[in-house]
Amino acid sequence: MKKVAYVTVYWGDEYGKPPKTSAEKALDEALAKEILKRIEQLRNIKIAEVSFDHYHLEITGDEAFCFLMEILQPASHLVSHTSVRVWRTYSRQELGALPVLLWRFTNQAIEDDWYDLKEDGYKGGAKASHKRCPACRAELEQVRDLLVDVRKMGKRDVSLTYGFEVILSARLAQTLQESGLTGFTLRPVWDYRKPNQGEPRLFQLIMTNVLPPMASPPTEFEGEQRCGVCGTESRYIKHTHYWGRIRYYEETSVYYPKEVLETAADFNRTTERFGDLSASDPYVIISQRAYRWLREQNVRGWEVEPVYLVE
Ligand SMILES: [Zn+2]
Repeated sequence: MKKVAYVTVYWGDEYGKPPKTSAEKALDEALAKEILKRIEQLRNIKIAEVSFDHYHLEITGDEAFCFLMEILQPASHLVSHTSVRVWRTYSRQELGALPVLLWRFTNQAIEDDWYDLKEDGYKGGAKASHKRCPACRAELEQVRDLLVDVRKMGKRDVSLTYGFEVILSARLAQTLQESGLTGFTLRPVWDYRKPNQGEPRLFQLIMTNVLPPMASPPTEFEGEQRCGVCGTESRYIKHTHYWGRIRYYEETSVYYPKEVLETAADFNRTTERFGDLSASDPYVIISQRAYRWLREQNVRGWEVEPVYLVE
């Protein structure tokens, strides 16, 4: 695993606060510049941009990140909670050694179901694609095929809709059908202008195998929500951390009991739902076999993250 952090140090006026006096601004600028001086010569901290009221840093590895967080403590007011983000990347070798992985999608080209989006306003009315809870609007059940603007897919093979449904091209859907991989079903997706006509150009990938709950701890969550009307629960994987007075963003990992392998298919969905209640969805967990298959298909628009197994 490699960690890269992105940090912005900003000494200008803050939104929603009274403007700084010129003396305050001068002090903050001096503080920011002093920090800059201390990191100038460091190999693992790259100064990506310096402007009249801020600079961007790119930090590689834990050691440099710790060092920077320490020297930034007296300047914590110059680093807002959205300006420190840590991203983890994994080598092919690391990912190739894991029996199951978290499948993430990197494009969201397809709009939502035409009726839900344009006419129903996600209320779950009589003609909507899903039954929804009247209180929290969580999707409870899909009741018909999706009707979308299929042109938005372009030449892509995989895309999410705005509502996180997984959409495949007809080409990929057919190859998947013939692959022998397990744990899914395919549902036609129609062009909203001529539903149910001819061969569908797109398919919705629906994970049918549901995994048992994640192992928690060590998996950590935050932002848990529960609807008192339908009982739907949702959450986020923990990503909020503090280093002294500095709040920063870093995703944490997903863990399962190792017995999960006895019930896992090639495609699975998690018991847990993630996101805000009204737009909450399970995550997709795939097998190493499915991961290799996806790579062999030369498909873009996705990535995987490790899932770790524990006793
Ligand atoms: Zn509800």
